[in-house]
Amino acid sequence: MAIRTILTEPNKLLRNISKPVDQVSKEDQKLMDDMLETMYHANGIGLAAIQIGVPKRIIVMDISKEEGKKDPRYFVNPVIKNKDLLKNTYEEGCLSVPNQFAEIERPSKCDVEYLDYFGKKKILKAEGLLATCIQHEMDHLEGILFIDYLSKLKKSLIIKKLSKLKSNTAIL
Ligand code: ZN
Repeated sequence: MAIRTILTEPNKLLRNISKPVDQVSKEDQKLMDDMLETMYHANGIGLAAIQIGVPKRIIVMDISKEEGKKDPRYFVNPVIKNKDLLKNTYEEGCLSVPNQFAEIERPSKCDVEYLDYFGKKKILKAEGLLATCIQHEMDHLEGILFIDYLSKLKKSLIIKKLSKLKSNTAIL
């Protein structure tokens, strides 16, 4: 396993639409292992492959709160089958939009069809934080970031801040 570099906004790669995986290969499993390690290292609860520059429809998540208890989840080619009309609001952040948070409204429940780590077809009935997280990660597969839901002004302020931060950072 290896820790990969997480791309941050502004970065055009993050706007790519990710491609479906034909069959879950050893290479894809290695990618998922790296993604999970990268996510844990960055203290995130979800990561899409495009966030480390790989345009594949692959997501890893772990929303377990208990210290020391890991509950990794892997989603390949996830598709939302049902969305609840009821909405839920969470304060969201994103490893690709560092240190920025905003309240985002999304359907409170959804059913997701996907392939697991071993390529087996599964269905997840998600609600609460799990539903929000999977929808946030699935947005990444379409090149969408949570700041896209904010007003133009708020979004441009955030991007300005992040650009400034980037130009002041020397990565040695
Ligand atoms: Zn994100």
